[in-house]
Amino acid sequence: MMIVMKAGATEDQIQSVIDRIETVGARAHPSRGEEVTVIGAIGDREHVQRLGLEGYPGVEQVVPILKPYKLASAQIRPTPSVVEIEGRRIGGEHFSMIAGPCTVETRDQTIGTAHVVKAAGGSLFRGGAYKPRTSPYAFQGLGQEGLRLLAEAKAETGLPIVTECMDARDLEQVLEVADVIQIGARNMQNYPLLAEIGRSGRPALLKRGASATLEELLMAAEYILKEGNPNVLLCERGIRTFETAYRYTLDLTAVPVLKELTHLPVIVDPSHAAGRRSLVTPLSLAAAAAGADGIIVEVHPQPEEAICDGPQALVSDGFADYVEQVERAAAVAGKVLSSVRA
Ligand code: PEP
Ligand code: MN
Repeated sequence: MMIVMKAGATEDQIQSVIDRIETVGARAHPSRGEEVTVIGAIGDREHVQRLGLEGYPGVEQVVPILKPYKLASAQIRPTPSVVEIEGRRIGGEHFSMIAGPCTVETRDQTIGTAHVVKAAGGSLFRGGAYKPRTSPYAFQGLGQEGLRLLAEAKAETGLPIVTECMDARDLEQVLEVADVIQIGARNMQNYPLLAEIGRSGRPALLKRGASATLEELLMAAEYILKEGNPNVLLCERGIRTFETAYRYTLDLTAVPVLKELTHLPVIVDPSHAAGRRSLVTPLSLAAAAAGADGIIVEVHPQPEEAICDGPQALVSDGFADYVEQVERAAAVAGKVLSSVRA
């Protein structure tokens, strides 16, 4: 249920609505706009229906939230959310470039790539320490040693870190290093993990499962939001279709459709969708021009030697040109790159 307060509602009136919501065992999520405050009442349907807030002092109207996801819906927050990570903004008119290797391999590869990303104007640095691999015999990531190298990359460049957490048992250690926790496509519906990351309060980059609908993606985001963590970035990374000429089909329609459905920022991952380098630049330009709030892309100093995802990694040399092109495409959609250039 959504309680829309009158334009002149007082703080006391807002507070008494919040108190009422809490007495029925629901949770109040106020969103204070410039003119009106909207309060989401989220909880069991039976409780929320008994609120009886119509006619309460300061209440303009009580409207049901029609979508199955509530806190993620554009209805509850009509203006785009902006997530801030150490001075870099994502969402609204702010575009972010998240880049780095698929996986952390060595100190030189990690720190070297972080410097390339920083110099090119990248906003955040990505790199996996825990890798979700299709084969259990493939390299699974450096784990704790990988996290240590990411911390070093941040200390050297100042770039905030995006890294994946696959298992709630690793969360404590990942939280020591990650400024943004990545939830991989394969874990999009791992609800206990989502709730745990929600409770941690750390910004999360939630990747769309390869066969998930947008509604399922938003329901997954809701698991994080419901725990009181508002900092969720959605990520389109390609879905499975009948087409076999490339790895996955990048669903760019998802960008404007998500903008209609939700206030959450939308990031596009052209690397995992394409599976090969030659497609990464055109897909990135299209995503930026379509209004994505950022790109997460793989880059490696020597992709032919990369342990994983080499064929799709951009080469470090030339990465600065790539960022410039994407920056121009983002400008077409009215967005400005949020970074701290070297
Ligand atoms: C990755 O970002 O390296 C990755 C494994 O992504 P996804 O979960 O989208 O496959
Ligand atoms: Mn990868």
